[in-house]
Amino acid sequence: MNKSRKKNRLLLINPWIYDFTAYDFWSKPLGILYVAAILRKKGFDIDFIDCMDRLDTSLFKKTGNIPTKKNKDGSGSFHKEKVTKPESLKHIPRNYCRYGIGEAVFEEKIQQFPKPDVVLITSIMTYWYPGVFRVIALIKKYYPDCPVILGGIYATLCTDHAANFSGADYILKNSQLNQLIPLLQGLTDNSNNLNDLKNNHFHNLNCFPYPAWDLYNALDYICLITSRGCTFRCTYCASHILNSKLEFRNPEQVAEEIAYWKELKGIDKFVFYDDALLVNSENHIIPFLNEIKKKNLNINFYTPNALHVRYITQPVAKLMLECGFEKIWLGFETADSELQRKTGNKVNNASFTKAVKNLLKEGFPPEKIRAYLLIGLPDESLQSIIESIKVVMDNGIKPYLAKYSPIPGTKMWKEIVREYKWKEPVDPLWHNDALMPYCSPYINVEQYQQIKMIIQNFKL
Ligand code: SF4
Repeated sequence: MNKSRKKNRLLLINPWIYDFTAYDFWSKPLGILYVAAILRKKGFDIDFIDCMDRLDTSLFKKTGNIPTKKNKDGSGSFHKEKVTKPESLKHIPRNYCRYGIGEAVFEEKIQQFPKPDVVLITSIMTYWYPGVFRVIALIKKYYPDCPVILGGIYATLCTDHAANFSGADYILKNSQLNQLIPLLQGLTDNSNNLNDLKNNHFHNLNCFPYPAWDLYNALDYICLITSRGCTFRCTYCASHILNSKLEFRNPEQVAEEIAYWKELKGIDKFVFYDDALLVNSENHIIPFLNEIKKKNLNINFYTPNALHVRYITQPVAKLMLECGFEKIWLGFETADSELQRKTGNKVNNASFTKAVKNLLKEGFPPEKIRAYLLIGLPDESLQSIIESIKVVMDNGIKPYLAKYSPIPGTKMWKEIVREYKWKEPVDPLWHNDALMPYCSPYINVEQYQQIKMIIQNFKL
C-alpha cells in the first residue's frame, strides 16, 4: 500500500544582494542558521541555499567562473553580474549588480533538492529587497503551491512593503518569531510537540542550539552573537526595533561554542555580530575572554559591528589583545559634541581618546584600529566631517567612512523624509547608503569625493 509522504521538508534561503556595491566583510545569515538548527531539532528536514556563499563550488563548476579574491582574514569579494537598474535608480551613475551565485546555479539547486513543503526566506538590508523578490518569483515558478514565509530585517522594518509586493504568503517580523511554530504546525505534518519552542527557543538566547553551520560545505569563519539588543537608542539606528531588549548569553557557554567549532571544523576566525559586545563587561566580555584565555585556542576575533568606546578600559583592551582580537572597529561617528548629544550620547571625544590610548598602550598596532565616522547626518556640515576626520587622525588611527542610511522607524526617519522631500510610503530602495551623495540635502558628490581623498591620503 502506498503511504502518502509526510509533509515535513523545509527549504531555507538567504537571497541575493542587489546593490551598487557589496563585499563579504564576514557576512553570513546567522538568524536563519539559528532557525534551521531549532527546527531541525524538532524533526523537520532542512535544505538550505545561501545565494551569497562565496565558497560554493557549484558556482564555479556550472559557470566556469573563477573563485573571487579572498583575504587572509576570511573577508573577500562576491561574484557579481550586472543587472538592469530599477527605474527609480536609473539616474544614479553607477553599475547595479546582483551579487552571489548565478541564477542558473540557484535554479539547479532548487531542482536538486526534494520538493519542499514550506520555503522560509530571510532578508537583510531593506534596499536589497529585489533579491528577495527574485528568489520568491523563482520558488513560485517551480513550486506554485508551496507556501513561502518571509522573515528577517527587511520583513521587520518594511512589513507593509513586503506584504504588498514580495509575493510571500506570510510575513514574520522578528518580534513575531514565536508565530513561526504554530504556522509550521498548520502547514506541515510535523506532529512533534512544538510548544517548548513557542515558549523558550526564540526568547531565551541560552536555550538556542548552535547555528546550523553544517549546512555549508566550506567555511572560512564563523559568526557569533553573545548578546541581543543595545542599551543605547541612537536616533539613526534600528537596533531597538529589531531587538527590543538587551539580553546576554552565558559567557562560559559562548566560549564552549567557540571551542566546539574550532575542534570540529578547524575554524580559527570568529566574528561578533553583537551590537553591545562590551556592555556589562564585568559580567560578560571579561568572564568570556578569561574563559577563552584558559582554553588557549589560537584563534582570532573580528568586530565589524562597532565597539562602544566608553567600555574599552585598559583591562578590557589587554584581554582583547591576549585573546586574538585582530581588527578593531570603534563606533565614533562624529567629533561634533552637539551632534553626539542629539543622536543619543553614546560617545564623546574624551572617551574616544581614552579608548584609543588604552588600545595602543596595550599593544594594538594603530593600523588595526579603525573608527567609523557616519557621514550624511542631518545638520552635519562638511566642515564638521573634516573636523571629525582630523580628530580621529590626531589620535593616531584611521577613520572609516560609513554613509548614513535612512531607516524607517528610527527617531531620525521623520526628519529625513521631510528634509529629503520624500513622500511616504518611501520605496526601500531609497534607504541605500550608496545613494547618499546623490540625494542627500546635506552633502553632494563633490564634497563626498573631497572627504574620501582626505582619508586616502592619510598615512599612519
Ligand atoms: S550604540 Fe550602536 S547598536 Fe546601539 S543604538 Fe547606537 S548605533 Fe545602534
